[in-house]
Amino acid sequence: MLKNTFDHSSIRDLIIIGAGVSGLSMAQDAARAGLNTLILEQDARPGGCLHSHRFTGERDGFWLELGAHSAFNSYGHLLALLEAAGELSRLQRRAKVSFRMYADDAVRSIPSQLYFSELWLAPFRLLGSSKTGRSVADYFGHLVGPRNYTAVFEPAFSAVICQPSSEFPADSLFNARPRRKDVPRGFTLAGGLQTIADIFARQPGVNLEFGQTVQEIQHDRDHFLVRTRSDEYLTRSLCLATPVNIADCLLQSPFPALAERLAEISIARVDSVGVAVPKSALTLPPVAGLIGRNQAFYSVVSRDTAPDERYRGFTFHFRPGVLDEASQRDCIARTLNLPRELLTTENVVSKANQLPALRVGNSERIRDIDRMLAGTRLALTGNYFTGVAIEDCVARSRQEWVRLQGEGH
Ligand SMILES: Cc1cc2nc3c(=O)[nH]c(=O)nc-3n(C[C@H](O)[C@H](O)[C@H](O)COP(=O)(O)OP(=O)(O)OC[C@H]3O[C@@H](n4cnc5c(N)ncnc54)[C@H](O)[C@@H]3O)c2cc1C
Repeated sequence: MLKNTFDHSSIRDLIIIGAGVSGLSMAQDAARAGLNTLILEQDARPGGCLHSHRFTGERDGFWLELGAHSAFNSYGHLLALLEAAGELSRLQRRAKVSFRMYADDAVRSIPSQLYFSELWLAPFRLLGSSKTGRSVADYFGHLVGPRNYTAVFEPAFSAVICQPSSEFPADSLFNARPRRKDVPRGFTLAGGLQTIADIFARQPGVNLEFGQTVQEIQHDRDHFLVRTRSDEYLTRSLCLATPVNIADCLLQSPFPALAERLAEISIARVDSVGVAVPKSALTLPPVAGLIGRNQAFYSVVSRDTAPDERYRGFTFHFRPGVLDEASQRDCIARTLNLPRELLTTENVVSKANQLPALRVGNSERIRDIDRMLAGTRLALTGNYFTGVAIEDCVARSRQEWVRLQGEGH
């Protein structure tokens, strides 16, 4: 039915919507298997949340992370794809600098904020305790004690996931994974983590069309029709690798029951503002970042993990709707102890980011979703399955790729 206006040669094997790390990792497997694959991306660059802003002009060559900043040797699926692309040698070890807290208008060491009298029982409380079915507040609050949780752990976990962390599922926060000993424990690449997306987008057989916002999906027994403002595409299999709220909207008409389950997952927004400043203007010692306690920001992520000769970079991940643009800049100047005039349109960049606000019960929801997906040749990947880390996304894409292969692609 859907096929009428398409000749056979224009029918794709697989269309992937979204060129973030989830969509790009699905495309690596599909391209290597020789599938006629196309990624449709609304933006003008690949990467989604892998977004390293690269300055031009006076600050040419300097970059900072507006999204994800840390990748580790426990990201086995991601590393396997980089290895298959022959690019593992491009990983750069992150400099050893540590996180500090920003609390009560000052930069403080993390140990100075801990209540050790409460903490010494933690190893005993750990014995036999399970994260399954428990929130971060419930599990970690019990483990480290209420004062430590409020003073250090809650702000630190909120900094990690860029959203209030207390109701997040404890088992989605950190996933224990084997580490690769041949890779630096924490790494980046020249040009930032965006370079991973650039590498994946350039692989043979990976076809990408930018500036294509998918607006509608239809399907019949054999095909999916994908419609953007200007074009229509027909494909045998379809993969949605968008944020969960977009997947929900696109599936409402063709897969209403699935869309209903996706709609239960809320979105947390974060206003990320990056600033590049001459080293000489700063007194702050090198840091990996600052964890905000009772601040307008969850965290400040620093470029000191990949030091530059002339500049330092900081990205403030602000709670949404708390400060307007001018007040955000005042806050940046105050926190970094910088003259306000140093923040101009040339050295300040911003991005509206979003992440799923996962809640206890998400794994049951995902099991239902997976049951509904079985046999459909529709794949769903992204950061709303086992966790929000890059590795969670790549692992989900791999799982969905294996399923699609079993279903005839
Ligand atoms: C501020 C921040 C910091 C983070 N830090 C880390 C970190 O240090 N380490 C870590 O492991 N993880 C980190 N994460 C999490 C991780 O980066 C993300 O979960 C992951 O990159 C998400 O990838 P994705 O491909 O699923 O989604 P996205 O990156 O959101 O990509 C989705 C893509 O779909 C496109 N799209 C959306 N709608 C459409 C449409 N209708 N048509 C076509 N294209 C569409 C978007 O433009 C986008 O490119 C961080 C996330 C954020 C926001």
